[in-house]
Amino acid sequence: MARYSGPACRLCRRENLKLFLKGDRCYTDKCAFERRSYAPGQHGQRRGGKISGYGIQLREKQKVKRIYGVLERQFRRYYSTAERQKGITGTNLLILLERRLDNIVYRMGFASSRNQARQLVRHNHFAVGGKKVNIPSYPVKVGDTIEVREKSRKIPFILEAMETVVRREIPPWVEVDGDNFRGVVKTFPKREELTMPINEQLIVELYSK
Ligand code: SF4
Repeated sequence: MARYSGPACRLCRRENLKLFLKGDRCYTDKCAFERRSYAPGQHGQRRGGKISGYGIQLREKQKVKRIYGVLERQFRRYYSTAERQKGITGTNLLILLERRLDNIVYRMGFASSRNQARQLVRHNHFAVGGKKVNIPSYPVKVGDTIEVREKSRKIPFILEAMETVVRREIPPWVEVDGDNFRGVVKTFPKREELTMPINEQLIVELYSK
């Protein structure tokens, strides 16, 4: 399946939640969800009918996929890996998603959204442990240093993102040295440190059918 290239704000309205897909705009009154917090489309303002258990589980999965910008097949692969790991499958799944290089770049404030981070990674602007990496899904490890490459330190998108990151918090599990355009993953996040309203258990139930 091809990557969704329609309006990002439509996805927030569909999921009835701000997914923060458009960077800085999400924090302003231009946010479409603030202005029209109902589902998109002709029947979007209809009072919702009763949604089945399956429907609720499906929406939760779609929401998480959209937050991290992951397609179905890849998401399924993350789930299979999470299932094989020790611990709670749902939490494992979220941590696998958080470990993606594009997510870490976003979390460190070098990009204003995960979408932008994905593009910047693809365009060779980052190095992990001193080596160029251009794979957005690259799984970052504890102790890895993520660095904006020397030649990319004047890119306006990156500089803007670093300036405006104060609007959202840099999470405590990463340490950022803005002056040197680098950050370190100190540890993986604990479940309670992931604050988006996600009920990953619903995804586990969906895939366990
Ligand atoms: Fe979602 Fe951001 Fe668009 Fe608001 S501006 S609807 S948070 S993508």
